[in-house]
Amino acid sequence: MADKITPRNQDYGRWYTEVIQRAGMADYAPVRGCMVIMPYGYALWENIKEGLDRRFKETGHVNAYFPLFIPMSFLQKEAEHVEGFSPELAIVTHGGGKELEEPLVIRPTSETVIGAMYAKWIRSYRDLPLLINQWANVVRWEKRTRLFLRTTEFLWQEGHTAHATREEAEEETLRILDVYADFAERDAAIPVIKGRKSESEKFAGGVASYAIEAMMGNYWALQAGTSHFLGQNFAKAFDITYLDQDNTLQYCWTTSWGVSTRMVGAVIMAHGDDQGLILPPKLAPVQVVVVPIWRDDAQKSAVLATVDQVERMLTGLRFQVDDREEYSAGWKFNEWELKGVPLRIEIGPRDVQKEQVVLARRDVAGKAGKSFVPMAGLGERVKDMLATIQQALYDRALAFREANTVEAATYDEIVAAVGDKFVRAYWCGDAEDEVRLKEDTKATTRCIPLDQDGPPGVCAICGKPATEKVILARAY
Ligand SMILES: [Zn+2]
Repeated sequence: MADKITPRNQDYGRWYTEVIQRAGMADYAPVRGCMVIMPYGYALWENIKEGLDRRFKETGHVNAYFPLFIPMSFLQKEAEHVEGFSPELAIVTHGGGKELEEPLVIRPTSETVIGAMYAKWIRSYRDLPLLINQWANVVRWEKRTRLFLRTTEFLWQEGHTAHATREEAEEETLRILDVYADFAERDAAIPVIKGRKSESEKFAGGVASYAIEAMMGNYWALQAGTSHFLGQNFAKAFDITYLDQDNTLQYCWTTSWGVSTRMVGAVIMAHGDDQGLILPPKLAPVQVVVVPIWRDDAQKSAVLATVDQVERMLTGLRFQVDDREEYSAGWKFNEWELKGVPLRIEIGPRDVQKEQVVLARRDVAGKAGKSFVPMAGLGERVKDMLATIQQALYDRALAFREANTVEAATYDEIVAAVGDKFVRAYWCGDAEDEVRLKEDTKATTRCIPLDQDGPPGVCAICGKPATEKVILARAY
């Protein structure tokens, strides 16, 4: 067995990087800030994609693909948008050996190019709503990068919709926030807080941004998906108009929303432990690993015959049989634990005799996580066990977040807690408070939860009247 992984409480950042590399999820690319998503990491991303894509289609969206290059002038049409993104742009000035007449931006996001196309496609109210998503890569030139969480090029989906009325666009923005929360909680087993971003944290060029925020294993927050109500800002910049039923020309109302490969980082940090990854069964590339154990050839043929039977019983599940002879059983256990496979089936000669197998849960260490299960009805038992693990991971993450969330009434209380807690406090919405908090603690406003439980109060940072509570935390 190779060296142990750095424990989380010793150096969380190192633990994160080591787990990713040792589990074969991603590696650093030759270009600084870029990453290679390796097959195991990509398989997890494919399952994330599948879970989201199905939900998008169930809510009436279709997929399309727009180009990687965007004319520089497009970005300049929306002033706040270009200002927000220009420090992160990668710009192509030459093509085919010649200097281009107009530089091309490699998309940091696609509101502008999609807006230009929507202006062409939308004529009347009959063309609305237009509900398109694309799965794509984007580039944002990042100075400080971290695998999956912040890389110069990353993969994501970006939804872009156009509507006839403000109400419909606002509804869409919140519908997608619900879709994201449903995916995060049911598939990724990550409890999330749905909320509105502050003015300073909202999308450049939008009217209001909403996000799902999750607590990671080091108590920091991670924004795992965002949904933006863009008002008519992009419609006016790109002339996205329609003729209403009275034949009057109107501007559309638009939205955009995205989840990226950050979600992979969220899964790693929400569930992983000092042994490595713990993947939720619904997303795990390998849900069950079967490890046969034998000493001699007679045992080997008996054990492998049972493995054949087990394989047939696992139909429909993502499973793998690890019958490599060059590694010991103990080595394999460690390897699959590192890779976060939710359930292991061990089959030895004695199990064959007793017509049973051993199930070992990844989320419950040692003997407590092991059970002997008869061969008869094994398929159902395994499915039930995977469902139990899925729920247990969610429950554990939720209990962890609740145990590490505090209410604060004063600035001193916030400062004392915010390094390793989510802090819930009244906030007046003033951006100066955010600057002060960040300077003193590096923490930021994460979101203003949609669920507000109390009457109006007093801002815990500056003492002015406040109507809502905010979540404050250190964040990725
Ligand atoms: Zn205040």
